[in-house]
Amino acid sequence: MTKVRDEVLAANEDYAGSFGDKAGLPMPPARRFAILTCMDARLDPAKFAGLAEGDAHVIRNAGGRASDDAIRSLVISHKLLGTKEWFVVHHTDCGMETFTDEIMRGLLRQSLDTAEIGPDGWKGVGQGPGSTAGDHIDWLTISDQAESVTADVKRIRAHPLVPQDVPVYGYIYDVRSGRLIEVPEATEAGKA
Ligand SMILES: [Zn+2]
Repeated sequence: MTKVRDEVLAANEDYAGSFGDKAGLPMPPARRFAILTCMDARLDPAKFAGLAEGDAHVIRNAGGRASDDAIRSLVISHKLLGTKEWFVVHHTDCGMETFTDEIMRGLLRQSLDTAEIGPDGWKGVGQGPGSTAGDHIDWLTISDQAESVTADVKRIRAHPLVPQDVPVYGYIYDVRSGRLIEVPEATEAGKA
């Protein structure tokens, strides 16, 4: 086994050893809200939003974007599991600001290996073959965080499967301070 796999399984053994009364948690989130946010390793929604197991839904993807699949999860979150308020949280220093569709497609056409970022941006360093399959993916990159949060809140608000009485709030998480900063135009656009 790899070192990481050993570590994860050891940590899980500790966690399960003191699992306690979490065995009895119901499936619907007790605090009836959901957070859509980025997969960035520096963001821990349980910590920055004060969540315990069973409290809320957390939906994560690259950028915290309101992709079709994120909306699928939000609709299930409300329709079947009763959440009543949703947060969209993007963040400062997001990796999604460092490339465009064209850059990502070019890197993937060249190689599937991990690329490197330098002063001039991303550079392909791996061996081929790559693939053109990335040409068909919208990578949902970000050029301005306030704009991306607002666009995503608007997209969720306008979706025909999202009921009008679910407020959608827009925030930017600051990776330097741990603080959530509201994007007022997003929250305004997302009001119930
Ligand atoms: Zn990010």
